[in-house]
Amino acid sequence: MTERIVNFGPGPAAIPLPVLEKVKDELLSYRGSGMSVLEISHRSKWFDEIIQTAVARLKRLMGLGDDFQVLFIQGGASMQFAMVPLNLCGGKRPAYINTGTWSTKAIAEAEIQGTRPLVVASSEDRNFAYIPRDYQVPAEAAYLHLTSNNTIKGTQFKTFPQAPVPLVADMSSDILSRPFDPAPFGFIYAGAQKNLGPAGVVVAVIRKDMLSRTPDNLPTMLRYTTYAAKNSLYNTPPCFTIYIIGLVLEWLEEEMGGLEKVEAQNQAKAKLLYQALDDSGGFYRPTADKDSRSLMNVTFRLADEDLEAGFVAQALENGLGGLKGHKSVGGCRASIYNALSLEEVKALVEFMTEFARRKG
Ligand SMILES: *Cc1c(COP(=O)(O)O)cnc(C)c1O
Repeated sequence: MTERIVNFGPGPAAIPLPVLEKVKDELLSYRGSGMSVLEISHRSKWFDEIIQTAVARLKRLMGLGDDFQVLFIQGGASMQFAMVPLNLCGGKRPAYINTGTWSTKAIAEAEIQGTRPLVVASSEDRNFAYIPRDYQVPAEAAYLHLTSNNTIKGTQFKTFPQAPVPLVADMSSDILSRPFDPAPFGFIYAGAQKNLGPAGVVVAVIRKDMLSRTPDNLPTMLRYTTYAAKNSLYNTPPCFTIYIIGLVLEWLEEEMGGLEKVEAQNQAKAKLLYQALDDSGGFYRPTADKDSRSLMNVTFRLADEDLEAGFVAQALENGLGGLKGHKSVGGCRASIYNALSLEEVKALVEFMTEFARRKG
């Protein structure tokens, strides 16, 4: 058996081992087809079943009723920064909450289009170390856009804002990490490569009434209505990526037992890791405010920043990979998405404690 490391990388990120093993088993001939999923037609009965089963599982896991539709769109979450204002403004100004790099990029795309986005709240004053509270959202806004989990800054919305307009959320790095009420959301999108599977597709959820906002003059491939009308099969979708997402959804439902259980495990993992940082006597310094800490991306510095490169390198020698912080902020980051187990986080905590004992 090939040696694997524990992958704390931010994305593309760890995929559950049982999923990878199933992919390997089915790689050369998918369920009696005599072909790999890499080779089958997106119009075949096999792929039809793959995509329909994935949609049904996602709807069950997220508790989505028939007023919501699931779409698969290429171009990454970054493409959604542009498609959201293109499709959903309906001639009104959109509102945004700015909680870091990804929100900032989303706002910039709305600006490019001349939609004059209103930034109703921002945590830029303290380098995005917290989730803003106490702000007003005008009832005339088209929607309120937020980034539910800030992958780079390590903060996360614990509850979602109440607003007089539909919420739109970039959930790229915490989708399916916990249950929540979808009712206030008009549109949700997530690049698959953090918590859902491999790169190559965005999983989006649209409330059907939002589809009437798409203006007539948009190019076909930029219209949500195109994906909705053809169940994401207007053109060739990334079949293999969607197949693996389907297997991850199966794993979440049947092996993990649904989102309540997933959330409990995510809480336990994050608690263990933050506790280790807090109890390190200042050797490790968590960067996010306590009440805003992400359960998915745990960001921290070492008090002696010169030790950080050695920390990351020695962790890797111990089979713990992907701990370097984003290049824009430096420091360290442990991404502990759904695929990471409590035992794997315990192994990291043990390494960190030992490293601090040796160097502290
Ligand atoms: C990674 C990430 C993105 C960018 O995703 P791409 O698919 O690479 O465009 C956007 N938003 C968030 C919250 C992310 O974590």
